[in-house]
Amino acid sequence: MSITADYHMHTHHSGDSDAPMEDMIKSALDKGLEQICFTEHQDLDFPDWYDLPEFPFILDVDSYREEFLHYKEIYADRIDMNFGVEIGMQTHIADANAEFVKRGGYDFVIASIHLVDKKDPFYPDFWEGDTIENIYRKCFNSTLENIRLFTEFDVLGHIDYISRYAPEGDTTYSYRRFADQIDEILLYLIRNDKGLDFNSKLLGNDISLLPNPVPDVLKRYKELGGRIITVGSDAHTPEKIACGFEKMHEIASACGFKEYYTFDKRTPVAHAL
Ligand SMILES: [Zn+2]
Ligand SMILES: [Zn+2]
Repeated sequence: MSITADYHMHTHHSGDSDAPMEDMIKSALDKGLEQICFTEHQDLDFPDWYDLPEFPFILDVDSYREEFLHYKEIYADRIDMNFGVEIGMQTHIADANAEFVKRGGYDFVIASIHLVDKKDPFYPDFWEGDTIENIYRKCFNSTLENIRLFTEFDVLGHIDYISRYAPEGDTTYSYRRFADQIDEILLYLIRNDKGLDFNSKLLGNDISLLPNPVPDVLKRYKELGGRIITVGSDAHTPEKIACGFEKMHEIASACGFKEYYTFDKRTPVAHAL
């Protein structure tokens, strides 16, 4: 078997993508996918930054839904399309995010940390003013705090996302080094029937890189009793859809997974790996 569902992707409805929705669908068909889920960004209270427009990640849900339903009908006999969202968590907006999700009628909700203390790891100033180890600790603390407050989600997005942007050559991050905090997050997810987004974005840049989570974290999730994983490219352009999925299949199998999941109206559906 192979992975035939990509459950993390963005189009022009997200502030950091220009991709036309139909181009994403056509690329998914070209790559042999049977199912996709759009997961557009909704990041309330994202800080102003010089190279971003004002309110860069506020989703226009009506326009997103309208375009989605239009193409869902056109492509109904060729691909199963699902309506998802990626929520940017911050503790002070947990209630607003929950309300937003309830209003949307989504098939699938990813909860992600894109900011720690209102700073974005993408920019170098995030990594200044403390040791890198402490910054990772702060991020994992914040992840746990946020998923305890905001529960309207199905999978936790790219759990070790900030490692993507660590200063070049830095080797601080490993599962072992942060095992205490990572285990706490994984156990919370498992006990609350939440899953993990197994995210291949970096493999789309360089196939020798590791996914998020890294294999050691995925393996630990399985050991602790974790069951639900969704596989997503986090594509922001059509050519990145399903990037690295063969390698993702190998890693998930090697970690002991026999299934991956899709979601229909927030209900998990298992597929053989
Ligand atoms: Zn994300
Ligand atoms: Zn994303």
